[in-house]
Amino acid sequence: MDMLAYVKAGREPGLVLEHRPIPDQLLPGEALIEILATSICGTDVHLYKWDAWSQKRVKPPFIAGHEFSGRVIKVAPDVTRVKVGDIVSAETHIVCGTCEFCQRGEYHVCENTKIIGVDTDGCFAQYAKMPVSNLIVDHSGLDPKYLSIQEPLGNAVHTMLHFDLKDRSVAIVGAGPIGLMGVAIARAVGAKQVLAIEINEYRRNLAAKLGADLVINPLKEDVIQAVLQATNGRGIDVVCEFSGNKTAIEQAFKYVKAGGKMSMLGISPQTIEIDISNDVVFKGIHLYGVVGREMFRTWEQVADLLKRKKLDLSAFITHFYRFDQMEEAMATMMSGNSGKVVLVVKEDAK
Ligand code: NAD
Ligand code: ZN
Repeated sequence: MDMLAYVKAGREPGLVLEHRPIPDQLLPGEALIEILATSICGTDVHLYKWDAWSQKRVKPPFIAGHEFSGRVIKVAPDVTRVKVGDIVSAETHIVCGTCEFCQRGEYHVCENTKIIGVDTDGCFAQYAKMPVSNLIVDHSGLDPKYLSIQEPLGNAVHTMLHFDLKDRSVAIVGAGPIGLMGVAIARAVGAKQVLAIEINEYRRNLAAKLGADLVINPLKEDVIQAVLQATNGRGIDVVCEFSGNKTAIEQAFKYVKAGGKMSMLGISPQTIEIDISNDVVFKGIHLYGVVGREMFRTWEQVADLLKRKKLDLSAFITHFYRFDQMEEAMATMMSGNSGKVVLVVKEDAK
């Protein structure tokens, strides 16, 4: 039996919609999943554009995509953790379990990590085979068309909840799809003041809608002055960095408060200049680099926020497309005028 899949077919831009055999020959510990919805990550856009990072990083051909929700339709005989019919998503880092970091329980920094849809066949397909140890079973009962975005939500949750935000002033730097989730998370956990800094107007408007008290436009305003003014000249308690932008990061080290915290998810292709003595050491700040999601504590935090209805997944999704509309979906992502973009692969027949 065949399925349709978007394949990174060669060393060139684009994804090719191909017929592929359904991967139903399962090894021990694997499950076959019927994909219901899949969302597009910045990484998929890199692959699609075939930029310098992709050219160095991946080896076509492979099926792209890693954010999904789907239904388990077959499991290997040894599998007990999930059952046929379960609605699942996946932690996209497949870790080795044996390196120094895995042995310490720090799976998110495993030195042999393989990424679904980058190093292995992914989920831009009607079916996908996955290691059961990476599957997260849904208990929220939400419509699966919203559930594919739990993985990037995990990035946002990991970034936002590493430091305590309750009654703190929080700056979200870069309100892209993940930073926007950060705005809602800060509100959900009781931050006293939430600022969002973003160059794109569409996203600034979304940040305001999701609960930012003040939205700053770096193209028009002096960001450091604007933040100091909003915080009685004291600076920000917790900076959450989602832009990866050199200037934005350098500014953040200036307006983070003495004793403050900085949690950094954004990836910068450039070298960042920091006055270590004055802006890190003498300020006594705490810095945290965020890699993926903590396995699996972050997923528990995501499930808990959803269960207690602290977050509304639908608020983060600005565009739904059909599975055959990949080109349109990619164009929307590349325009910058979007939050999360979701492809509905199959409407869930409940
Ligand atoms: P994105 O690139 O869509 O979002 C970045 C946002 O920053 C954009 O909206 C952009 O307009 C904004 N921006 C650019 N320059 C700015 C400036 N000077 N000031 C303020 N905002 C500015 O990406 P995303 O999908 O939301 O992901 C956020 C970041 O996290 C990206 O850098 C991504 O590569 C990174 N990421 C890291 C991990 C990890 O494990 N560390 C995982 C996923 C994503
Ligand atoms: Zn490991």
